[in-house]
Amino acid sequence: VAGFAEPIGRLIDALKLLPGIGQKSATRLAFHILKRPPEEAAALARAIQDARARVRDCDVCGNFSEGEMCPICADERRDRGAICVVEEAANLPAIERTGLYQGLYHVLGGSLSPLRGVGPEDLRVGRLVERIREGGVREVILATSPNVEGEATAVFVAGIVRPLGVRLTRIAQGLPVGSEIEFTDDMTLGKALESRREF
Ligand SMILES: [Zn+2]
Repeated sequence: VAGFAEPIGRLIDALKLLPGIGQKSATRLAFHILKRPPEEAAALARAIQDARARVRDCDVCGNFSEGEMCPICADERRDRGAICVVEEAANLPAIERTGLYQGLYHVLGGSLSPLRGVGPEDLRVGRLVERIREGGVREVILATSPNVEGEATAVFVAGIVRPLGVRLTRIAQGLPVGSEIEFTDDMTLGKALESRREF
C-alpha cells in the first residue's frame, strides 16, 4: 500500500481478506490497532491463532468444535429427534438465539452454487443420511437461506432425505426473500422457525 510503512501495508492487506472489509475499513482497523497498547495486539493475534489451531469440525454435525463432538451434539438435554439443516456453522448462533429450538443441527458446509463451483459433492450430505439411518430422527428442518442458492440447496437435500421417511419441513416463510439466516433478527427467525411447513 502506497504511503504506508511496509508492516502497516501488510496488516491492511491481511485485514482486507476478512468479509465485508474493504481498503477503507482495513486502514481504519490497522490504525486503531497501532494506537492501542502492544499487549492488546498480541492478545488479538493469539486469539486468532488459538481459535484457528484448536477448532475443527464436529464429527457428527459439522459445527465448529474443540473436540470430536460439539457442545450441542454432546448435550444430553437436546432433542435427538429433530435435525435442523443449515448451510454454514455461522448460521447456528442465529437459530440458537431465538431460544425456540432444542434439537440438533447438521451443517452442510456451503450451498449449491454453480457460479462459485460448489456442487452436491461439496456438501456434507452423506453424514446426514447416516444420522437419519441410525434411527430416532422424526423431523429434518431445512433452514437454508431464502435466496436462490439456499432454495436450490433445500430442494437438493429434500430429494435425498425424503425417501428416508422422516418428516421434512422448511423454514423461511416470513423471512425477507434473498436474505441470509445469519443476519436475520431473532424475532423474524423465531417466527419462521415456528411457522415451518411441510416441504
Ligand atoms: Zn455437533
